[in-house]
Amino acid sequence: MTPEELFTSALGLGRQWRVAECRFEGEPKRLELRLEHVPGEHFECPVCQASCGVHDTIDRRWRHMNFFQYRCELVAKVPRTWCRTDGVHQIQVPWAREGSGFTLMMEALVMLLSAEMPVDAMAELIDEHDTRLWRVLMHYVEQAHAQSDWSAVRRIAIDETSARRGRRYVTNVLDDENSRLLLMVEGRGVQAIGAFAEALRQHCGDPSQIEAIAMDMSTSYIKGATQYFPQASIVFDKFHVMVLAGKALEEVRLQLQREGAQLKGAMWSLRGNTWNLSPERQAQRKDLCRQYTQLGRAMSLRETLQAIYANSDRQLAEAELRWWCGWAARSRLRSFRHLAQTIRQYLDGILAYFDTKLTSGAIEAVNGIIQLAKRMARGFRNFVYFRTAAYHRAGQLNLDVPNMLT
Ligand SMILES: [Zn+2]
Repeated sequence: MTPEELFTSALGLGRQWRVAECRFEGEPKRLELRLEHVPGEHFECPVCQASCGVHDTIDRRWRHMNFFQYRCELVAKVPRTWCRTDGVHQIQVPWAREGSGFTLMMEALVMLLSAEMPVDAMAELIDEHDTRLWRVLMHYVEQAHAQSDWSAVRRIAIDETSARRGRRYVTNVLDDENSRLLLMVEGRGVQAIGAFAEALRQHCGDPSQIEAIAMDMSTSYIKGATQYFPQASIVFDKFHVMVLAGKALEEVRLQLQREGAQLKGAMWSLRGNTWNLSPERQAQRKDLCRQYTQLGRAMSLRETLQAIYANSDRQLAEAELRWWCGWAARSRLRSFRHLAQTIRQYLDGILAYFDTKLTSGAIEAVNGIIQLAKRMARGFRNFVYFRTAAYHRAGQLNLDVPNMLT
């Protein structure tokens, strides 16, 4: 067997193509395989599949997987068919996707590596421009995303990510059931929710199937949800409310500090639940709350709110929340008075949590992955890269990647 015959069979070129020449070249080391179509063959017109004669050929080049330390490239004169009906068209070659500068096997390798490492690192490893690798990634990820089926999605969580230097916002929509990232769109609020309603229709779904939406208390998202998903419950979950309570407590501490209280090192003993603290911090928390009555009041308010969330009964929770708001309003703590107002204003959505028990857990679950995707795409310099990396890692997609073994 000649080297040309060996490569012909290793590449699985089919009967119309063969390796006519293989050449090893100097520095940097390169293996070039020149492919030739068998003389006199007819090719299918890519449009109507009729057998056609060759009009002319175009020089094309594809990068293939390295051959040991040699960068390997395939080169071929690709025929253009002349069809009576459709005119002149370049034919499909069996080893590469139309428009790609990589062979299918090389693309399979790129996709395999992309699951394990950032594009930058991959570019360095295989000595390739990252934009070319992104293009491969985008093709397979976008194709799989476009084909994903959302017909079973019932409960979603909506979250907003901001760019490092602000101003540009991205809205993420997640499936609560499996923490799958369904959609990432630029922008926020009404527009973003409208984009999701539209996307749902394109993914075998319908806005009427959505039963509940978890989100934070932002008026523009509420407006969007009411407009596009009028039948869905809007849910402000426990975690969002408790984050606000934590901020209210922190404001009390900062105010006391501004008034001269020695609370610099106290932040960690005031944060979080008592049972998560070390015995020393628990003791410190107790002392501080005794010493500064405002802090003590704030802590009680926060812990009581937490306890209300232990209720599984909506009616009971409603009675207790109303009572809590009264207490907070009379607490002479500005931040808690403000929180009481917020809770009263959004009471329906806050109580919906007790009906649905829907949380933003899905958001918590994928937030780290999305941050990683953002780093992979080097921040927001290119939104499409960011979205591609996020879908790839958090979209639970079925990628239709060529098989490495065929
Ligand atoms: Zn044709």
